[in-house]
Amino acid sequence: MIQLIRGFKDILPGEVELWQKIEKTAVALLEDFGFKEIRIPIMERTELFTRSIGEDTDIVEKEMYTFPDRKGDLLTLRPEATASIVRSYIQHKLYAKDPVRKFYTIGPMFRRERPQKGRYRQFHQINAEIFGVDSALADAQLIFILATLFSRLSVTDVESHINSLGCPVCRPNFKKSLNEFLSTVKDRLCSDCNRRQTRNPLRVLDCKVPACKEALEEVPSILDSLCPECHRQFEILKNALERLNVPYVVDKRLVRGLDYYSRATFEVKTGLLGAQDAVAGGGRYDGLVKTLGGPDLPATGFAIGFDRLVELTPDSGVDNARQLDIFVAALGEKSRALAFEWSCAFGLAGIQVEMDMGDRSLKSQMKRANKFAAKHTLIVGEKELEQGSVILRNMATKDQVSIPIEGLVENVKAQLTM
Ligand code: AMP
Repeated sequence: MIQLIRGFKDILPGEVELWQKIEKTAVALLEDFGFKEIRIPIMERTELFTRSIGEDTDIVEKEMYTFPDRKGDLLTLRPEATASIVRSYIQHKLYAKDPVRKFYTIGPMFRRERPQKGRYRQFHQINAEIFGVDSALADAQLIFILATLFSRLSVTDVESHINSLGCPVCRPNFKKSLNEFLSTVKDRLCSDCNRRQTRNPLRVLDCKVPACKEALEEVPSILDSLCPECHRQFEILKNALERLNVPYVVDKRLVRGLDYYSRATFEVKTGLLGAQDAVAGGGRYDGLVKTLGGPDLPATGFAIGFDRLVELTPDSGVDNARQLDIFVAALGEKSRALAFEWSCAFGLAGIQVEMDMGDRSLKSQMKRANKFAAKHTLIVGEKELEQGSVILRNMATKDQVSIPIEGLVENVKAQLTM
């Protein structure tokens, strides 16, 4: 038997209803805040990700599904959505009429990480991006939307962590003091951190190895090195969150694994998912549109880990076993042909319907109706056809009524609402 690929999963009926509920809630909220859906391809040229995510990140170094196609072009299954949305924004000049654009997209991402609970090789994200706004109010709006979504879904144990990554003006100063600190704890850092320290010391702050975390306890805070404008924007963000009653924690160690981030960076964490504690992450990536060949326009956004959100969302109120309205049981070929037409008419009228298309006894058809937990069974045979009426049986009360075939759908509808 051919099995699923490791780290991939099926989302089966019975589970999918919760995914649908979350998706509907998120889409309604994002649309109310002026975001428009954008659908981007699942595969892009590898170069798009190496240039935007950065060569010395875990994603690019070891996690991408990359392969040459038949002509030898290097292609990659998208590990995240932002790079593609930026490519699309530039390629279709979506900034031409108005640089301020808000997009969302929902779909699968692919990273070849070691699978464990909350970490998959195909996982799903809900992404939102705001282009063309350099004020931290846009970052505050994104964090507010996240907090609102989690609260609408009754997800309680979550906390917003925020930090600033500075900008190309002030970050070099911080990198210098960070490097000085890192050389004092060099022996305690893992080999990845030692290698990255020279090229991208900020990434060391992100390391998940416990010994590295411990070694970094006294690390200097980037917030002490911010230039006046970055400092002002960080204050705007914090004030806005306070006015919106969104609790937050300032986390000096919070950096994003991707090179294109600047200024506001944030993560929503939970205590309920063990090691994989981030449910959503995001921040400002002012340099990326230009880096990918577009105009110098700012941008900010977030990605929610959909799979993790599903694990956190209580499924109360999710109807994952909608009861069948009618099971149609037909006896004989002529009845079955008519029953088939009626089933289609019921379906069109919004009445959930099933029928047995085989030539089975009434007893076995009634068994199937019970298996479906049908509310009613409609019974039709030669005798009923002669009399111009069918039998509608209420499966709970066992009451039976005779219904004229003339105007059947309307007649049945009237019975169902009784
Ligand atoms: P990132 O694009 O790395 O900032 O991730 C954004 C969010 O996606 C994270 O906060 C996680 O919730 C989720 N996520 C990232 N990688 C995975 C994965 N391998 N499996 C499941 N969820 C993931």
